[in-house]
Amino acid sequence: MNIPFIDLAAQQRIIRPGIDAAIDRVLHHGGYVMGPEVRELEAQLADFCGAKHALSCANGTDALQLAVMALGAGTGDAVFCPSFTFIATAEILPFFGATPYFVDIDPKTYNMDSESLKRAITAARTAGLVPRGVIPVDLFGLPADHHAIEEIARAEGMWIIEDAAQGFGGRIGTKVAGTFGDIATTSFFPAKPLGCYGDGGALFTENDETAALIDSYRIHGKGQDKYDNERIGINSRLDTLQAAILIEKLAIFAQEIEARNRIAARYSVKLGGFIQCPTVPEGTTSTWAQYTIVLPKSATRNVVQAKLQKDDIPTAIYYPIPMHAQTAYKHFPHDPSGMAVSDDLCHRVLSLPMHPYLEEAVQDQICASLIANVGTAATA
Ligand SMILES: *Cc1c(COP(=O)(O)O)cnc(C)c1O
Repeated sequence: MNIPFIDLAAQQRIIRPGIDAAIDRVLHHGGYVMGPEVRELEAQLADFCGAKHALSCANGTDALQLAVMALGAGTGDAVFCPSFTFIATAEILPFFGATPYFVDIDPKTYNMDSESLKRAITAARTAGLVPRGVIPVDLFGLPADHHAIEEIARAEGMWIIEDAAQGFGGRIGTKVAGTFGDIATTSFFPAKPLGCYGDGGALFTENDETAALIDSYRIHGKGQDKYDNERIGINSRLDTLQAAILIEKLAIFAQEIEARNRIAARYSVKLGGFIQCPTVPEGTTSTWAQYTIVLPKSATRNVVQAKLQKDDIPTAIYYPIPMHAQTAYKHFPHDPSGMAVSDDLCHRVLSLPMHPYLEEAVQDQICASLIANVGTAATA
C-alpha cells in the first residue's frame, strides 16, 4: 500500500464537482486577473480569521516582501526571525538592505523563544543596528508565542509580521492566526493546510492605510489606476482560477482543521509514551501543517527514516539546516548566547504523514512501525 505524506487526492475526491464548476465559471467570464472570485475570496478570508482587510498575492514569499515594503526596513535595520523555519521567512530581508537577525526556538513548541529574542535585540543594538521588526512564524501550524513577542516588540517600537504560511486558521484563545502583528501573511502553496493548485498567498491587516499601500505595491505601485504610478511596486496577484479553487477549499477548511486536530491528538496518545511529541500550549489550536516528533538522541534519524520507508511509510525532515547555518545566511548575526535548540532539533526532528483524511488503520500502522523501528534503531 502506498501511504501518501499529504493526501491531496483524497481531498480532491470530495470537492472535485465544486472545483470543476468553479473553474468552468472563470473560463466562462474570462476575468483571469483580479476577477470577481479574487474579491470574493478576500472577503471570505477576512471573515474566516476576523481580519479587517485581506489582500491576495502571488505566493507566500511575495506576501512577506509586500509586508516589509509596507512597514519599512532598510540598511542598518535588524529584523528578528526564528532560525528554525522555511527559508522564505528571512529571504526577503537582504533585498531591502536589512539584516536578518536569527533567534533560537523553544524546544517544546519549535517556535521563536522570546528570551532569545530579547538577547538578540540587545546584541543588535550594541552592534549599532536599529531593531526594526520581528517576524514570528507559526511553525508546523502552531501559533507563535504572539502575546509575549508583541509585548517585547511594542516596548522596542518594532513592527510585527506574523508569518502564518503554515498556521493560518490556528488560534490562541479566540484570536485566529492571520490577525496577529501589524500584518499577517500566508501561503496557498498546495501542501499548506489551505492550499490552491499552484502558487498563491495573502496578507491581512487591521490598518486601512497599510491595506491601501499593499494594494498599491502588489499592482506596480498603482495610484488611482494602474497607469498612474505613485510608488515603485511589483506584480504580485493571485490568479482568478486559484481564487475560485480556494473558495471551494475554504468552505471545508474549518472541518479539516478539526480533523487534523483529531488525528494529531491520536498520534500523541499512541506515541507519547515512546517519543517526544509536539506540545500545544493550553488554549492554543494548531492547524497541524506538520506533525513533527523529536527522535531520542540515541536513534540515528537516517536509519529510522530508511526503516519506515521499507514499511512504505513516507516521512520528511523540516528542517535539516537552520537558517543561521545555511551557506547564504551564515554571515548574518544570531543570538549571541548561541542557537543550541535549533542546532540540536535539526538533527532529530521527523515529520509524519499528516492530512485531514488520514485513516485510523493507516495511522495505527505508522505508529506501530515507528515505535518498533525507533526501538531497534536506538539499540542498534
Ligand atoms: C511556505 C512558507 C513560506 C512561503 O510561501 P510560498 O507560497 O512557498 O512562497 C513562507 N514562510 C513559511 C514559514 C512557509 O512555510
